Amino acid sequence: MQTTGDAGTGGKGGNRAIIWFRGTDLRVHDNVIVHDAVTRVQRQQVAEVLPVFCFDPHFFSATAWGSAKTGPHRAQFLLESVADLKQQLRAIGSDLMICMGRPEEVLPGLMTERGSGGKTCVLAQSEVTSEELAIERRVKAAVGGAGGKLELLWGNTLFHLDDLPFREDLRDLPDVFTPFKQKCEDRCEVRKPLPTPSRGSLPLPGGLDAAQLAFAPQRVEELNAVVPSGHPQLAAPAKEPRAVLDFVGGEGAALARLKYYLWDSNLIATYYDTRNGMLGGDYSSKFSAWLAHGCLSPRTVYHEIKRYERQTGTANKSTYWVIFEMIWRDFFRFFGLKHGSKMFHEGGISGQSHPWATDAEALRRWKNGTTGWPLVDANMRELAATGFMSNRGRQNVASFLALDLGLDWRLGADHFESLLTDYDVCSNWGNWVSAAGLTGGRVNKFNITKQSNDYDPQGDYIRTWVPELSKVPARRIHEPWLMGREEMAAAGVQIGSDYPAPLKSRWKGFGGGGGGGSSSGSYRPSGGRGGSGGGGGRGGGRGAGGGRGGSKSFRPKSAFEQFG
Ligand SMILES: Cc1cc2nc3c(=O)[nH]c(=O)nc-3n(C[C@H](O)[C@H](O)[C@H](O)COP(=O)(O)OP(=O)(O)OC[C@H]3O[C@@H](n4cnc5c(N)ncnc54)[C@H](O)[C@@H]3O)c2cc1C
Repeated sequence: MQTTGDAGTGGKGGNRAIIWFRGTDLRVHDNVIVHDAVTRVQRQQVAEVLPVFCFDPHFFSATAWGSAKTGPHRAQFLLESVADLKQQLRAIGSDLMICMGRPEEVLPGLMTERGSGGKTCVLAQSEVTSEELAIERRVKAAVGGAGGKLELLWGNTLFHLDDLPFREDLRDLPDVFTPFKQKCEDRCEVRKPLPTPSRGSLPLPGGLDAAQLAFAPQRVEELNAVVPSGHPQLAAPAKEPRAVLDFVGGEGAALARLKYYLWDSNLIATYYDTRNGMLGGDYSSKFSAWLAHGCLSPRTVYHEIKRYERQTGTANKSTYWVIFEMIWRDFFRFFGLKHGSKMFHEGGISGQSHPWATDAEALRRWKNGTTGWPLVDANMRELAATGFMSNRGRQNVASFLALDLGLDWRLGADHFESLLTDYDVCSNWGNWVSAAGLTGGRVNKFNITKQSNDYDPQGDYIRTWVPELSKVPARRIHEPWLMGREEMAAAGVQIGSDYPAPLKSRWKGFGGGGGGGSSSGSYRPSGGRGGSGGGGGRGGGRGAGGGRGGSKSFRPKSAFEQFG
């Protein structure tokens, strides 16, 4: 893989660079492919630059389990992000060609014609996971076949791949977060953000089809044009007043949120204490959707936090902890690069096989928030209604699905992939395989009732999303099935009819017979993420010291203690 740009197409005028935006890179600030194109123009290696985005049918088809690969909230956010990118590019005298179709079919048609004297290089950000790599391969072949060249550049992470203190093949990259973080922090620097291009630095080719260039879908429903027939159709998501934030896609909104979270509100200075919240916009940064779509660069966030620390004199465990969390994001991306498809396999990295339960009804109840476990139901309803769920919620519902219900964890990862606005392939599947205890380390089983008591002591979050329980007092809200007849009457709810009785936990420990039931052929996907297989994999795992996950005894220690 090439990780830095080179002269590529040679030094003649008439050469063209196509900036192929893939959806995880939708910004002009600190963008390696944009910067590389600018540099090529400055060096007169290319004369013209055509930025392109394709709404690729691949990402709007059904998954192997039948879910819409991109659900309505993410589709809306993506649409807005692409529209904003077009505006950002127009503001510097360029534009964005928005196309409906597979990039391997669209891009060759946008290259310089054979015999015209000019060559074309297609610049794109590298991805690390199977489906994205398959697209890269197809684009490479199609562009190569048309006489051009695909050049892949590394972006997306806080630490640059080339700067990692590990072997090039990442064989020695730890499978556990804490040593990964420690080594990176000790031995690499976060590079300075690349400059935002100035006006005129990306000259458009002449003679472009004006109508094609003016095209920009405005409504989610228009994306149905790329949904393969028979696959789930998209509709615009309904506005939800209980949503933590009105997430608006695009670099403009991303930078505004960064400014708000640091400079306008100083919320960053208390992040460590608020980050386990579940209600409202302010308990955590909410950067994830913008980071996932590339509207926000993690390096920009990092250096802005450093500037905040210098200018305000507030450099505490909270300002550090946002960076700490972004290192988790890096960890899963490099973990994905190291382990490849194993991250999607039933047995995860460890390759262990488990007798997952076959229980379509339990899965249905998990998805629609009627498990009878109030904390799980509140979170699953929030996800369905808004496309977002807190980190605390994600840890709990993932543990509940894989360990309590004993269902194949990939069903949960697939559901999240469909619904999350901030879906990031490595963060999602990496967190899920960890939650299922399949990275080789210890299993972090969550005690849902305890978590509910600890993180929603008065039940405010539960009542927001489970109105059936709105009159249940705090002492019963976490386990409403314990209410007697009179308590239920006073709370105006009958457990078992108005609100379901709780699903039974199947948890006996992985060593003790697993989830019960037989392995489900019907849940096996036919392809895509999580295809069959599994295989060995290295040991390791998330371990006790890392992240915010786990029950209380697994709370993070290591990095926090550094502040001692
Ligand atoms: C089962 C499961 C699935 C998840 N799926 C995704 C996903 O698809 N996309 C995604 O961005 N995050 C995912 N996360 C991680 C985390 O829950 C979200 O990043 C976080 O809740 C987003 O809110 P925030 O931006 O306010 O985060 P903050 O708490 O403010 O953290 C700052 C940033 O750090 C990164 N981050 C924080 N925690 C993690 C983590 N555990 N793993 C990786 N990055 C992290 C995110 O980019 C986040 O925006 C998942 C976690 C779990 C347990």
